[in-house]
Amino acid sequence: MTARVLVVDDIPTNVKLLEARLTAEYFEVHCAYSGAEALDMCAKIHFDIILLDVMMPEMNGFEVCRRLKSNPETHHIPVVMITALDQPSDRIEGLEAGADDFLTKPPDDMQLLARVKSLVRLKMLTDELRARALTGRQIAAEHAEQAIASIRVDGGRVLVIDEDPASVERLQNILSKEHKLQIVADPTSVALQVADEGYEVALVSTGLKSFDPLRVCSQLRTLEQTRTMPIILIADEVDRPKVLRGLDLGVNDFIMRPLEKHELSARVRTQIRRQRYANELRESVNSTMAMAVVDELTGLYNRRYFDRHLAIMLEKATSQERSLGMMMLDIDHFKRINDTHGHDAGDIILKEFARRMQRNIRGVDLACRYGGEEFVVLMPDTDHQQAHAIAERIRDAVADKSFVVGNELHVHVTVSVGVAMNHDETDTPEALSKRADIALYRAKHSGRNRVIFDAA
Ligand SMILES: [Mg+2]
Repeated sequence: MTARVLVVDDIPTNVKLLEARLTAEYFEVHCAYSGAEALDMCAKIHFDIILLDVMMPEMNGFEVCRRLKSNPETHHIPVVMITALDQPSDRIEGLEAGADDFLTKPPDDMQLLARVKSLVRLKMLTDELRARALTGRQIAAEHAEQAIASIRVDGGRVLVIDEDPASVERLQNILSKEHKLQIVADPTSVALQVADEGYEVALVSTGLKSFDPLRVCSQLRTLEQTRTMPIILIADEVDRPKVLRGLDLGVNDFIMRPLEKHELSARVRTQIRRQRYANELRESVNSTMAMAVVDELTGLYNRRYFDRHLAIMLEKATSQERSLGMMMLDIDHFKRINDTHGHDAGDIILKEFARRMQRNIRGVDLACRYGGEEFVVLMPDTDHQQAHAIAERIRDAVADKSFVVGNELHVHVTVSVGVAMNHDETDTPEALSKRADIALYRAKHSGRNRVIFDAA
């Protein structure tokens, strides 16, 4: 994962320490030595995450955080506050200032990386949804205007997985005034109990005796109804290794015992807010999808939507100096299929092709039906090698098994793929499309059923 990190601390050796650790993990690290300098840099550069020292002369970290979070240009950037002391009062002030997380100085290596990665992952998803909502909004006649700020964060549906009665009671005391809690003491039945309940956040105790808490988390991640539900681990100090493994499994947050009342409520509120925010975006995307941006046959976005989205994504990739891949796909000899088996068979093949393609791209990729038997996939933050792997995966998924039409007919289908990557800041959507198209043309002419990259 690549991400642009801003490290802010008034003491140069602290900055150097974090810079070295993050650079070693291939993060792009920028440094600021005062609050004013940090705000100045944020106005010019798009950061994916900010690590912010609390104790700084002139403007302290809380004030910097408040300003970042009250500015619409920067409020979505995750902020991790770095505190010298593990002071609950610092954490409360930080949370009130809008901080997304905390680390205690000097930050433990694994915890630092796990926290940074988990927040960056979340930001990338939110960025993508935001870009899609924006594209949809430009096209849709109707405004899908739902002010994010008006989203309430109380009345959350909270799932608690814990078998210790004393610990459950403590959680209820802190949270039940504000939210609706459902307690599950026997995690073996969790799959049954969560079905269709619409939980917004899960609290999982690492102290489960009869069941591996990380298994519970990975189960929640694989169930359709709970796949995107935030998970907070509640851990004792001795369970720190479990927490780190949990973060790698996609757990969103954790809180250590003894539970601090304000910190727990704030963390739960933050996750509920994120979840409702993501749902809101998804719904506004869904409602605009119905309006002329979706191809009826395949359910993919149509060309009109794609053209708008490409312009936004390319501009974003250019301004953030990120790579963007574009793949053009064309089903081989589709006219012959249509002529031989009829248009109904052709439609079934287009649908199945779209399904196989969708299954072989990633969540951040955007697939569209460009027209007829031509499709296009946009791959943000993707290098040449990753783009090649995705293209080959699709090509293989199509050629590998024949397409079944009705009860009898098996049709062998192949696809040709042209791939192009974005260039420097002079690149345009038209030029990028053109390069992908030329690569596709070459794939056709060198024998079809293959992936060819733009030569440049
Ligand atoms: Mg300091």
